[in-house]
Amino acid sequence: MIYLDYAAQTPVCQDVLEVFNEMTMKYMANPNAAHRLGKDAKKRIEESTDHIAELLGVKPSEIIYTSGATEANNLAIKGLVKQYHRNGRHMLTTYLEHSSVTSPQASLQREGYEVDFIAIQTDGKVDLAHLKELLRKDTVLISIAAIDSELGAIQPIKEIASILKDYPGCFLHVDATQAIGKMPLDLDGIDLLTCAAHKLYGINGCGLLVKKDTIMVEPILHGGVSTTAFRSGTPSVPLIVAMEKALALSMSHQQDAHQQVQQYNKQLREVLGGYKDIMINSPVGATPYILNISFKGISSVAMQEVLAEKEVYVATKSACCTLNTPSRPVYALTKDRKRALATLRISLSHLTTDEEIKTFLEVFDMCYRDLHK
Ligand code: PLP
Repeated sequence: MIYLDYAAQTPVCQDVLEVFNEMTMKYMANPNAAHRLGKDAKKRIEESTDHIAELLGVKPSEIIYTSGATEANNLAIKGLVKQYHRNGRHMLTTYLEHSSVTSPQASLQREGYEVDFIAIQTDGKVDLAHLKELLRKDTVLISIAAIDSELGAIQPIKEIASILKDYPGCFLHVDATQAIGKMPLDLDGIDLLTCAAHKLYGINGCGLLVKKDTIMVEPILHGGVSTTAFRSGTPSVPLIVAMEKALALSMSHQQDAHQQVQQYNKQLREVLGGYKDIMINSPVGATPYILNISFKGISSVAMQEVLAEKEVYVATKSACCTLNTPSRPVYALTKDRKRALATLRISLSHLTTDEEIKTFLEVFDMCYRDLHK
């Protein structure tokens, strides 16, 4: 089996699973309980939170645990604009965003909020001049992925944060789900940041939103006490400690992993780019972890299926997208609908091996020829 869909979900790391199991057995009590067992569980969460905050370069009070990136994005977007409704009802974003960003925005549009889209340049980055043109006095939020999940384009977050210094009523939300643990990220100037454990070899069902102490968000989940006032629900010791472990491990081998994956990405770009009917969509400066291509004359869904029959697993688009619709990020970049309808996303990991890349290319070639017949 060759798994090349790591951008959708990473396998759980053995060490992370061991920590999860250990914590499940050790901390049986509710961390909100007033007795000693509850207090012990709460203390364990606080230790993890301190470490996660240190790893991300923020304060422990700035970490809000969620069920994953979708919830964190919803809380960031809905929670922020509701809290700061007096600042305005205008938001900026891009066509590269995940549905967990575009859907809350669409829901807010139905309530009268406005959303404008920043143009994407041919290098996959947002056009900063266009961003400046779009910024208004009533712009309250910019939501942008540090790395988008389909093309893997890396955005100039530092430059955006710097532009926003002149707009004190506008906040910056960065969806870093595909970036954390894969590239260094300076959180200076970022007000809200999303990440999820299952993209970094942690356990699905846990994510977090960094919310700087200088700002507020209105909760979207109301209920009892939790680790913060911004998201109710009994916090899970095993999920949080496992996320701490996953984050620490990915960050500790981030640089080596990046170098290794870059080699594989280069190899794939060279070989796949040599096919007459294949176009490489991921920009040259994109993350090496994601390589997006399009076919001429072949259905990418058919390609995905024949590859899967040979136990090779890739995606056509982001896992949450509707099948047989054009890829919004590829369309935004290429303005070519046919190309956006025929995309294949290959996503890599430090777990990928030379042998897997070699076999993948052989199987791919066989399937490509078969489908062309
Ligand atoms: N944001 C990005 C950039 C993603 O890639 C994903 C998942 O693919 C999400 C958000 C949603 O993550 P989750 O599955 O944790 O809700």
